[in-house]
Amino acid sequence: MKKFVVGNFKMNTTPTQFGSYLDEFLPRIRESKTNIIFCLPATHFHIANQRLSTTNIKFGAQNISSEESGAYTGEISSVMVKDCGAFCTLVGHSETRRHFKETAESINQKIIRALAVNLKVILCVGETKYERSTKKTKLSLKRQLDIALKGLYENELKNIIIAYEPIWAIGTGKTPNVKEVESAITDIKSIISDSFSIRDYDKITILYGGSINENNFTQFVKIKGVSGLLVGGACLNPKSFANICK
Ligand code: PEP
Repeated sequence: MKKFVVGNFKMNTTPTQFGSYLDEFLPRIRESKTNIIFCLPATHFHIANQRLSTTNIKFGAQNISSEESGAYTGEISSVMVKDCGAFCTLVGHSETRRHFKETAESINQKIIRALAVNLKVILCVGETKYERSTKKTKLSLKRQLDIALKGLYENELKNIIIAYEPIWAIGTGKTPNVKEVESAITDIKSIISDSFSIRDYDKITILYGGSINENNFTQFVKIKGVSGLLVGGACLNPKSFANICK
């Protein structure tokens, strides 16, 4: 199966700068055999729509509202994002959990809203440094996954990609070692397959994210059970990101 490489722009670049970014990026990845997805600020969607529609690169949002529509000033709904041509949305990124006080229940609601309009979901889960040091990684992942996926049907899981992102590794330059990622991937698969009685583990798509860069990415994509990468800071450099994608 083709690996995924997801670039999360966070709140970086203007739409004009994103256009220049694509001028550099697109010619470099003509031969790419990966599924590339940009998770963008909504201000960039029109550029993504114009420039990516003739490629097999997809784009998505970084967040959506847990509400359907109405008096929620500043929010963007799943149906708005879908109507702009987006393929997916991130949900539960550690930065939206922290800065926007996203709760586990609102994450569940966002997932339900996204799936209802055929937006794929990239659900981010991960443990804190404290949880890892007190051997509570699996417990933390279970708590996050159980609530986020509550009420979903097994056949909806194919529209959900899980991104394993240890919180302490995001934007810090620190990464877990291969064994730690392997063990978290096994935990995620067993938590989900227990809840949904799935026998075929391989149906669950899991990415690794957290301080990936051009120099360290190969060890993570090679890990059994890792279907690709979620890249933050390093995706902002078109040359580096193209090298990772290739
Ligand atoms: C992210 O934003 O999901 C992320 C993994 O960021 P970084 O690669 O900068 O750690």
